[in-house]
Amino acid sequence: MTAPTCPNCAGEVLPVLFGLPTEAAHQAAAAGKIVLAGCVVWDDDLEESWECRNCHHHFATPDRTAWLTAVETAISQHGR
Ligand SMILES: [Zn+2]
Repeated sequence: MTAPTCPNCAGEVLPVLFGLPTEAAHQAAAAGKIVLAGCVVWDDDLEESWECRNCHHHFATPDRTAWLTAVETAISQHGR
C-alpha cells in the first residue's frame, strides 16, 4: 500500500470515508484508522480524499486505488 503523505506537513494521513458507514467502518474510525466524512465540514465534493493526522489538512489525490486499498485494509481489520 502506498498511502500519500500530507502535502502540508508530510505527516501520516488517513483515508476519509463518505457515505453511510458500516459498523466496521465506525470501529475503524474509533480506532483511528479512517476518518468518517460526517465529522468533517467540506468545501466541495471530494471523493477519494485524505486527512492528515498531524495538521488535519484535507486533500484529494488522483490515485483512487491507493485510497480504496487504505479504506479496505482499515475496515477489514474490524469485520465487515
Ligand atoms: Zn499535515
